[in-house]
Amino acid sequence: MLRTHTCGELRESDAGKTITLCGWLDTLRVAGKISFMLLRDRNGITQVFLDKALTEQAQHWKKESVVLVEGLVNKRPENQVKKEMATGAIELGATRIELVNAAETPLPIEVQEETTTQIDKRLDYRFLDMRRDKVKNIFKIRSKIYSTTVQFFDQEEFVAIQTPKLTASGVESGAEEFKIPYFGKMASLAQSPQVYKQMFVVSGLEKVYEIAPIFRAEKSHTTRHLTEFIGIDFEMGFIKDEQDVMDLIEKYVKFLLTHMKESCKAELTELGVTIEVPKEIPRLSLIEMRKWLKEKGKIIPEDEDLDAEGEKLIGEYVKERYNSDFVFMLDYPWAKRPFYHMRPDNNKNITKSFDLLYKGVEIGTGAQREHRLDVLEVQCAEKDIDFKKMAFYRDIFRYGCPPHGGVGLGLDRITQQMLNLENVREAILLPRDPERLTP
Ligand code: ATP
Ligand code: MG
Repeated sequence: MLRTHTCGELRESDAGKTITLCGWLDTLRVAGKISFMLLRDRNGITQVFLDKALTEQAQHWKKESVVLVEGLVNKRPENQVKKEMATGAIELGATRIELVNAAETPLPIEVQEETTTQIDKRLDYRFLDMRRDKVKNIFKIRSKIYSTTVQFFDQEEFVAIQTPKLTASGVESGAEEFKIPYFGKMASLAQSPQVYKQMFVVSGLEKVYEIAPIFRAEKSHTTRHLTEFIGIDFEMGFIKDEQDVMDLIEKYVKFLLTHMKESCKAELTELGVTIEVPKEIPRLSLIEMRKWLKEKGKIIPEDEDLDAEGEKLIGEYVKERYNSDFVFMLDYPWAKRPFYHMRPDNNKNITKSFDLLYKGVEIGTGAQREHRLDVLEVQCAEKDIDFKKMAFYRDIFRYGCPPHGGVGLGLDRITQQMLNLENVREAILLPRDPERLTP
């Protein structure tokens, strides 16, 4: 490796060692004939002292250039060390410096923690935007959310599946499809792994999950919608009802948040985020909550979904009433749910489905699926869907299909809500929306 140490790891006990660091030139402060260079890598910043000769060598080096420094670790004089200094109690007395790769000037965006560059410009230069700790921390945390999720499903003995993203046609009603030419036919980019999740429960795997891209041609320009996002989907067989699915999600949420608190302490602190693990996630009926919303002056008609404002109000309600950042909302109207959601026997206007809200924003939708072919056919007819056209989907209900259910969660939204990010675009490396196809 080019370096013997990284910037973050040096301690007072390293004083006296000769080491090599290599990183980005964060700042060069020339003070008369000598100078102080702040060298940055992914672990932190180290102050480097340059004597007269080395200052002459480095004085025209540009910010963000890649620089190598050899030198002696020195303990800094007590009176120079401020507690809050990122560079801590040591500094490197350089004996040799090398410009490994020069950065051009000017930089196209501001590379400093408190930036005034607008999000669009930042996203155009995301790799430079990420030189900032604030941004890097988001993606270190997102990575941990991902790996902790895998760990959870692995531990619960779910089988990871990878299903096609090039598909014949979507099963999800309502959601917009991206159509693409496919050898003289038209294909669609998968809007959900729904069909396949169910297929592989029925295959005998019983419990499956997939973490993969989902494509939706959403024209909207909201702070929570992307046209390509990462879905965390799971599906499980032999459930009694949708409560079993919620039980598992609740276990997942607690596992995830507990692990995140532990494993991302430093990053969360730097972002000013406190994670609260719910003791229990309240499960509330939309039918009841509509009445409460109405009292607040917010009308949600019986055959309508909650809108963003309704979700926000309910988020505030559960925070105040149950001290919970999470809530399961139950009993969504049949009119707004897809044909494969099961309905309770005693009320055909609602579904055995739920949404999971996190700090007042939907992060997941789940349900018990209808597994009885005759009922499914009636439900298709009611929604004006020609089930015969989805022959391979129909087949999975013909040869022994256990009662089952599952959920689709969004990794981007979970990250956004966990870190209190205003825009979901902050939570994904390279967002796709109606305007953005590059970089
Ligand atoms: P919304 O009502 O917020 O548009 P939805 O109900 O259409 O979402 P679902 O089909 O229920 O979305 O998808 C499951 C989960 O996938 C959502 O709860 C959300 O976490 C995530 N998700 C859905 N659409 C998007 C999107 N366009 N961008 C980012 N995440 C999304
Ligand atoms: Mg939904």
